[in-house]
Amino acid sequence: ALQAKQLHKAFNNVEVLGSISFAVTPGEVVSLIGPSGSGKTTLIRLLNGMDKLDGGEVWLNDQSFIRLNRNTAGKERFYENSALSQQIGMVFQGFNLFPHLTVLENLLLAPTWHKLGTAEQRQHFAAVTLNKVGMLDHANKYPHQLSGGQQQRVAIARALMMKPRIMLFDEPTSALDPEKVTEVLNVIEQLAREGITMLIVTHEMKFAFSISDRVLFMEQGRIVCDDTPDALRSGNHPRIMQFLKDIS
Ligand code: ATP
Repeated sequence: ALQAKQLHKAFNNVEVLGSISFAVTPGEVVSLIGPSGSGKTTLIRLLNGMDKLDGGEVWLNDQSFIRLNRNTAGKERFYENSALSQQIGMVFQGFNLFPHLTVLENLLLAPTWHKLGTAEQRQHFAAVTLNKVGMLDHANKYPHQLSGGQQQRVAIARALMMKPRIMLFDEPTSALDPEKVTEVLNVIEQLAREGITMLIVTHEMKFAFSISDRVLFMEQGRIVCDDTPDALRSGNHPRIMQFLKDIS
């Protein structure tokens, strides 16, 4: 579904990402792990069109591709094909719900703007989606009336409303109190079981290894390993074993 081809990114002439290539195929769950500062958030922002590439291309699906502009300044998004960028769902560390809108209004905003289905269909899908993340009872509340875990579950539901081909998660639980982490991980796990394609940046190693088809390990702006959890566990990659030991 999603292909990164030789992505490059520099800040102030300092290379932060160097020649990143990988693919996430439909139905796959891929985790992106690595030390702080290795470039995980930068990579996710490039894939989501929130920042501009200094080189390389991002493709979504086989025929239709998105080539990110090289030197486009001052634009919010950098996709040449915005219809495709809508097919990438994004969940941030800090929830990023619209504070002045209710839960339901947060969900309906993008699909209404993009005229996805009829108003009745959107209402119905919003209810189904809120139910899926266990938040239907809170549909008319405002974000500040919810816990962090609940806000994040709403943020996931909001991203699902556009029926994305892939969901990108950037450390979805790292801003949460420890006791709220599980409820969000459970929702993500449920999406994985449903076959939703996902790329997840996470520091939750146990979760990453249990949920993922593949784990990408990033270090100093490069993907130094792209393998199955089983292969990683069996110790084929000493550098990762060391990293896992260091953070445990
Ligand atoms: P963490 O796990 O701590 O979130 P990360 O792997 O997500 O780290 P990034 O946030 O992508 O790492 O940062 C990668 C490198 O790019 C770091 O050295 C960071 O200081 C640098 N960087 C990120 N954004 C910018 C920016 N807007 N301007 C300058 N440097 C930046």
